[in-house]
Amino acid sequence: MDRNELTPTFEELKRVLGDSITDEQLWIELDKYLNEYHTAIETAKRGIIRKYGGSDTPTFVTGNSIVKKISELTGSEASVDITAKAVFVDRKDITVKGQMKTIISGIIGDETGTASFTVWEPGSVELAKGSVYNFRNCYCKTWNDKVQINIGSRGRIEPAEGVSMDLPDRQISVVSQECKIGSIKDGMGNVTVTGKIVSVESRDIVARGEQKTVFSGIIADDTGKVQFSAWSDFSLKEGETVCIKNAYIRSWKGIPQLNMGDRCEISRVDEIAGIIDTSCNRKTVEEISKIGGGLDITLEGFIVDVRQGSGMIRRCPQCNRSILNGVCTAHGEVTGVADLRLKVILDDGTGSIGAIINRADTEKLTGVTLQAAEGLASIKGEGAVGREMASKIMMKKIEVTGNVMSDDYGPSIIVKSAKKSDTDVIAEAEALLKEVEASI
Ligand SMILES: [Zn+2]
Repeated sequence: MDRNELTPTFEELKRVLGDSITDEQLWIELDKYLNEYHTAIETAKRGIIRKYGGSDTPTFVTGNSIVKKISELTGSEASVDITAKAVFVDRKDITVKGQMKTIISGIIGDETGTASFTVWEPGSVELAKGSVYNFRNCYCKTWNDKVQINIGSRGRIEPAEGVSMDLPDRQISVVSQECKIGSIKDGMGNVTVTGKIVSVESRDIVARGEQKTVFSGIIADDTGKVQFSAWSDFSLKEGETVCIKNAYIRSWKGIPQLNMGDRCEISRVDEIAGIIDTSCNRKTVEEISKIGGGLDITLEGFIVDVRQGSGMIRRCPQCNRSILNGVCTAHGEVTGVADLRLKVILDDGTGSIGAIINRADTEKLTGVTLQAAEGLASIKGEGAVGREMASKIMMKKIEVTGNVMSDDYGPSIIVKSAKKSDTDVIAEAEALLKEVEASI
């Protein structure tokens, strides 16, 4: 994508990030995410905002707050009081300038409309869905021409005792778009999908001191599969085909999930044709970048880089984390257990993706066993193992299957199984044949 196409995105990010990033740096970041990592625009935006942490303090402070209804907000308020009902609330952890912090975000509404909000320093504040609160000293910004309400360190949230508030229905019912499971991606909002329940299980959890049963599983159609969670018992049964209306999409590390909340409606429908073979969900890197992540995805590509951290590594005997110089970040000094791992970059011609490969598949792909690696390490040092492996697999074509997740650096696949591609075997045979012919 060139600068012309990216100008709206650039300006949108500039508005949010202000002086925390120079124009030049922002262009570099956009180029990296979109042209180098091939991430979706929304992923790039999120990544850049996460990295440079849009300022969440207002540029100036007025003496007294003014009181406004949501429909009156312009997006430039520096200090405003709003009385509104919590429509949707989500407490989550984000990374701002390399620091983990907890925020609360969601949607609040009054008689005049709804808007998204973020509480940047929630502390012990708990917002209950359906309750009415006074949000004091808020500041507003705009994003995609929509007003966003921010409650920063100067802000306060108090329960609005005795206030009841009716939201106009049309304000809170978001249009639910009908879509194929394969095209579900992060940030879609409400969707209606039809698919077959591949698996379903229930789990008892405690949420806000209350015992609840959550139902989760996998649903598939002819284009893909997705994990779902249901917060009430819809009596979903394995093998039945259902139409799920008004579900919403949330993502965890880029893997979209279908959530069936209070407003979800489920109907049993006739079986649909061509349900994908859920054991194989083949995608290109470009397709993966668009959806951000997914489960049990298979892709094929050339190993174009073998990264640091490949070869022989040591793991903490207690938590299995990889350790550096005999020190586990959680358990301090430990005697590491030797293991093998590959961290490679795969390129399939449509883009590149990081892949982390476990010991069994590392041994299979490189032909270097842990025992051989330990022998090599004792003579030439542990670093030699990675170099030896790299020489065996660079530019080889492999097929991997695993779960794809996304972070600031784009998507990566945690490989569950890997093998050399059949086409590679043919290429190898041809190369060998040429060598043989040349020597005759
Ligand atoms: Zn440990």
